[in-house]
Amino acid sequence: MINRIPQALIDELISRTNIVHIINQRIPLKKQGSNFIACCPFHVEKTPSFTVNLKKKFYYCFSCGSHGNIINFLMHHDQLTFIESIQQLSILHGISIKHFLYKTKNNNYHGDIIYTFMRDICNYYQNNLKHKKYSYAYKYLKNRGLTDSSIIDFKIGFAPMGWNNILTNINLSSYNHKLIHQSGMWIKYHQNKKYDRFRNRIMFPMHNKLGKIIAFGGRLIQNNNTEPKYLNSPDTYIFKKNQYLYGFYEICTKYKNIPYILLVEGYIDVIILTQFGVNYAVASLGTSITINHIQLIYSVTNQMICCYDGDSAGKKAAWRTLNIILPYLHDHREICFMFLPVKEDPDTLIRKIGKDNFLKQISKAQSLSNFIFDTLLHKVKIQTLEGRVKLSHLILPMINKIPGQILKLCLLQQLSNKIGILDENKLNQLLIQHSPTLTSNVQNNDITYNIKHILIGLLIQNPKLAKLVPTIKGLKECKDNIIIEFVKLVKLCKSYPYLTTEQLIHYYHQHDENNCFTNIIRLAHWNHMITDDMITVTFIDTLTKLYDLILEHRQNILISRDRTSTLKIEERQELWLLNQTLSKHTLT
Ligand SMILES: [Zn+2]
Repeated sequence: MINRIPQALIDELISRTNIVHIINQRIPLKKQGSNFIACCPFHVEKTPSFTVNLKKKFYYCFSCGSHGNIINFLMHHDQLTFIESIQQLSILHGISIKHFLYKTKNNNYHGDIIYTFMRDICNYYQNNLKHKKYSYAYKYLKNRGLTDSSIIDFKIGFAPMGWNNILTNINLSSYNHKLIHQSGMWIKYHQNKKYDRFRNRIMFPMHNKLGKIIAFGGRLIQNNNTEPKYLNSPDTYIFKKNQYLYGFYEICTKYKNIPYILLVEGYIDVIILTQFGVNYAVASLGTSITINHIQLIYSVTNQMICCYDGDSAGKKAAWRTLNIILPYLHDHREICFMFLPVKEDPDTLIRKIGKDNFLKQISKAQSLSNFIFDTLLHKVKIQTLEGRVKLSHLILPMINKIPGQILKLCLLQQLSNKIGILDENKLNQLLIQHSPTLTSNVQNNDITYNIKHILIGLLIQNPKLAKLVPTIKGLKECKDNIIIEFVKLVKLCKSYPYLTTEQLIHYYHQHDENNCFTNIIRLAHWNHMITDDMITVTFIDTLTKLYDLILEHRQNILISRDRTSTLKIEERQELWLLNQTLSKHTLT
């Protein structure tokens, strides 16, 4: 099995790698201040919000929040596994990691071997379709209307009946059994005994961004009541179902500009649509859409069209999708919903009405606003006052989730037409009342908010400043969440004096107990404009201000207590000391 790659080696690879150089090979970066910037590769945008910091060895996108070190970048951008990313970097630096990886008889390392294995299986499945013995499988595909070129292009094959077809038909001598067991192609039933996962199924291979096969989907050739009609590979270390869209990488390799992506349900829909010349279709393998899918789609196009059944189950699924997608709807992005006639799939529909009419149907897909209002107006009696109140109540929290300001405004205007409030200010007030971030907005106006954030920001960017914090005793008694976070950070930096910003971020990524990771990331990339020679002075100044604020806070409590009741002797002494200290600080 794979030995664990030591953290020290991973850190060494990250620190030796010029992150700007590697990313620049993929997306051209421009220097801006201490950062390098570009349009984000993980979402579609016109003005750059993707930043790379050479010193901190980190990238961060201010729009979509993608972030990480060079390993995360390679995994996300090049669709590599963790081990593959490490391998790439190790080759770059001539550091051998071979003894951490399992070696096979052919001197291949498992990073590649799993793909060779999957390719061998795919070839075997494809060859089966040519066998007379399995001509019924080929006939099945023909009856479903697939052309020979589709069968070849999509590398479709057949997994026959039987429990040991892979074992008996593929030369496994060059593979390590334990390793290929992780491919998900077998089901283990007793110690070392296993049987083929896919039997009597039409097989659809799934490719990653580099065109390598990472999983399979299988369609039962004869329906029965004991097995599922569709079966996919389980999640493995090279395949994650909730991040995968069937047909996506084929589209990305074929087209440079993708006007829209049509999301459908099954592999056969994708294949038949492509066959009819309706390109840009992808399938989500029968699962409901995930955030990963949304990010994947919006990374290559701004227009997404979701195709659902026209029945109530289809409408419900579309509504679920809508609610997941709202927080990703920036002004330049669009989403539409296409509802199919009852009992039709994209596959059956296009065969009935042809390409042109199908494209017309796509262009008539319901817009976001139509879909929202149509659905909600069915739930309320708009003629009544109560109905109009209920409509606002249902829709305002949804509008609030949308980041696109213009889209937000348009939806508000539509709402005002429906409920009869024509004053924009009043509507905005309603929106604020429904805002879940109301409390945090109030916090932002708090003067101490800035002080605390400057401290955390400077410290996370310069962990060595921690030694300048003399004592955290006074701070520790403070119940303020941000100060608690600051104290935690100081402690961490003091216990591990050689921590870098990158390692701190990694730490927070792993141990995000208080959901402060996004904040930490933002502060790690905060462009503070303080010159290098002034950082220490600014930090000490700000720290003093914070101590004073805490003391003042305590002073105020004691003073007001003094007004309502008498203070105890020790409280009086404390107040006197506080007055002394604070007046001294004001003088200096
Ligand atoms: Zn981004």
